[in-house]
Amino acid sequence: MAEERCVHDLMREQCSLCRPTPVAPPDRRVWVLPTSEVFHERDCYMFDAVHEANLVRDIPDNEPAPLTVAEALDIGLRPCERCAPHVR
Ligand SMILES: [Zn+2]
Ligand SMILES: [Zn+2]
Repeated sequence: MAEERCVHDLMREQCSLCRPTPVAPPDRRVWVLPTSEVFHERDCYMFDAVHEANLVRDIPDNEPAPLTVAEALDIGLRPCERCAPHVR
């Protein structure tokens, strides 16, 4: 099957200018820890790693908080580079 290329000669899905955005619905649920400025998918191992580290360091208020993608971006949080919840 023919590959669909954009005017930049890239696969449309790989071109940051031409691929459809936003991909994630704004009400998509993501997870944030109080000590972190990054939001995650719930099953992201980075998220679990930070949560575990906080437990070990006995940091209070270590409960993950659910937010929507829109809310998280709105308060200045960054999407995790591993699970990239903003693009799914
Ligand atoms: Zn393009
Ligand atoms: Zn993540």
